[in-house]
Amino acid sequence: MTLTPKLFIRHLSHSYHSKKGETAALSDISFSVDSGEFVAIVGPSGCGKSTLLSLICGLSSPDEGEIFIDGIPRSQYKTPIGYMLQKDHLLEWRSILSNALLGPEISHCITPAKREYVLSLLHNYGLGNFLSSKPSELSGGMRQRAALVRTLAMEPELLLLDEPFSALDYQTRLQVCDDISEIIREQKKTALLITHDLAEAVSIADRIIVLSKRPASIKKILPIRFSEAYNTPLQKRNAPEFPVYFQMVWEQLCEPSEKTGEQNKGTNNW
Ligand code: ADP
Ligand code: MG
Repeated sequence: MTLTPKLFIRHLSHSYHSKKGETAALSDISFSVDSGEFVAIVGPSGCGKSTLLSLICGLSSPDEGEIFIDGIPRSQYKTPIGYMLQKDHLLEWRSILSNALLGPEISHCITPAKREYVLSLLHNYGLGNFLSSKPSELSGGMRQRAALVRTLAMEPELLLLDEPFSALDYQTRLQVCDDISEIIREQKKTALLITHDLAEAVSIADRIIVLSKRPASIKKILPIRFSEAYNTPLQKRNAPEFPVYFQMVWEQLCEPSEKTGEQNKGTNNW
């Protein structure tokens, strides 16, 4: 029996058109993500990573190719998709609880059960004492957890995370990465994470998709497996496999692209 993948992308290409001309962002991208999988996407800055997520999210339609979620064409898939960005976009004039309830409020689906669900998420994820606090009273890490709860409030099965930890300082980032990974796995969500931090990708993902320079095409898909003793992203950073995977991803990023022959030499290009 073959299970339908949660996400299936086939021959996706996309360009932007402006007065200045055409910018090709994605070129013939195909991959699939199984239900419950955590996939990280890395690639040079400006290669088309955010474009890929916005197409999956349905914010725009691809020029070419198809996107299926649970085997359903994207345009017909009606379950909400969670989308988390670098900025948490919490509204300062609302409390943490009312921020978390924003999605259900906008879509007119606040029921007592939904309110209970959101409250239980906030309590479970360390925000129970901050229900009536304003976002500015929370640390960066807590704000990102609140933003995740707001995303989970709509009960999405698929989460798209576009560099959600980038704005945090290093120490907070390590902790939030651990927390958010645990929450997503505990909630049995399927996640696609864009990050320019290779260590983060190796420590959090089941597979890493390495993209080429713009227009992004797939250079390599690397499965990541750690021995059972290493469960959390923080623990995995100390595993013997960690530097091996890190090096593999790094080499893929630096390797000349088959299409252009160009080398991604950059030390700071992602
Ligand atoms: P990444 O997330 O990998 O940094 P993006 O997907 O944001 O890259 O952008 C890919 C390319 O498409 C970039 O060259 C960017 O300037 C261009 N681009 C992104 N959004 C638009 C837009 N709305 N209109 C025109 N060009 C865009
Ligand atoms: Mg981006």
